[in-house]
Amino acid sequence: MLLSIVIPVLNEAQTVPLMMVRLRDALRKVSWEVIFVDDGSTDATPSVLALEALKEERVKVIRFSRNFGHQAAVTAGLDFANGDAVVVMDADLQDPPELLPRMLDLFERGYDIVSPQRRSREGETVFKRWTAKIFYRVLAHLAEQPMTPDVGDFRLYSRRAVLAIRSLREQHRYMRGMVAWLGLKEVMLPFERKARAAGQTNYPLLKMLRFAWTGVTSFSAFPLRISIAAGCLLSVAGFLYLLCVTYLALYTTTLIPGWASVVALQCIFSGVILLALGAVGDYVARSYEEAKERPLYVVTDARNVSLAGKSLPRALVLADAAVPLDPVVVEETESAVPAPITSPAYQPLAGVRA
Ligand code: UDP
Ligand code: MG
Repeated sequence: MLLSIVIPVLNEAQTVPLMMVRLRDALRKVSWEVIFVDDGSTDATPSVLALEALKEERVKVIRFSRNFGHQAAVTAGLDFANGDAVVVMDADLQDPPELLPRMLDLFERGYDIVSPQRRSREGETVFKRWTAKIFYRVLAHLAEQPMTPDVGDFRLYSRRAVLAIRSLREQHRYMRGMVAWLGLKEVMLPFERKARAAGQTNYPLLKMLRFAWTGVTSFSAFPLRISIAAGCLLSVAGFLYLLCVTYLALYTTTLIPGWASVVALQCIFSGVILLALGAVGDYVARSYEEAKERPLYVVTDARNVSLAGKSLPRALVLADAAVPLDPVVVEETESAVPAPITSPAYQPLAGVRA
């Protein structure tokens, strides 16, 4: 039995060697390969990975032409994995390699997906912990298929689960939702999530919010429908307000407060309309991006993996530069020099030298 470990990396030069030590230690009794997907690192990561690949053939490296994002890197790793079971994990040791034997144990008992569930999250701010908690709970209610809370991308997939995930080639990827959507047999394994071994997070607030929004929009049409609910609620409130105003006008001498309430209502209505419009716009933009059917990632380099003849749906694999491209030679012939314009229709402006 072969275990593949897929590790997306972005600027993780410090953590990769630590990761390799812990991996080797944890997997003494298992036959394994590791696939690092370099998601356009700009530090020393490429040379660190090349060195690791040189030491051992079972360390495989795939390099993207630029940063395509964590989810695209996970997708590429799953595309290139050969194992009977595949584990996706972070490079920063927040996902402990020591958990792998227990995950394999559960896999051998017949589970397609083994999901380590974070019981605690060390080294993360209170803000991140709380927003994550709220997000998982909200999404659990919005999504059509319930997603397991507090499970990240650290997961074990059986071979058939990998084949199933490979067939889902959508542009805006939210792996956790895709796993839930597949509905395969899943088991949870609680663990304590430690702080990063070194370096700093590659998921700053804005990127995290964007990722959360992808999660919501990929698996729920609720934001599109929210305007209907908001519209109904506001209409009822408006009608009640109208009744109230009519009553005041007919039976009391109280002056109806003027512009302030009108302006307030105007603001609320405009806000809700813009919000709804924005949500619709976002779905339209996402459909547009999907319709273009661009590749999910571009691979330009690989170690211990042959790219020649590799063809994957919706992925661009630029093979080893073994096939030389004919250079385009521009010869400076006389005809290449633009001829002076002789047409009578062309009259240079007076005083301007043509
Ligand atoms: N990562 C990646 N591409 C990105 C962002 C992150 O490949 O655009 C990798 C990163 O190197 C790490 C994993 O994805 O191995 C998780 O990222 P990180 O630890 O920074 O996120 P956090 O755990 O803080 O949410
Ligand atoms: Mg991390």
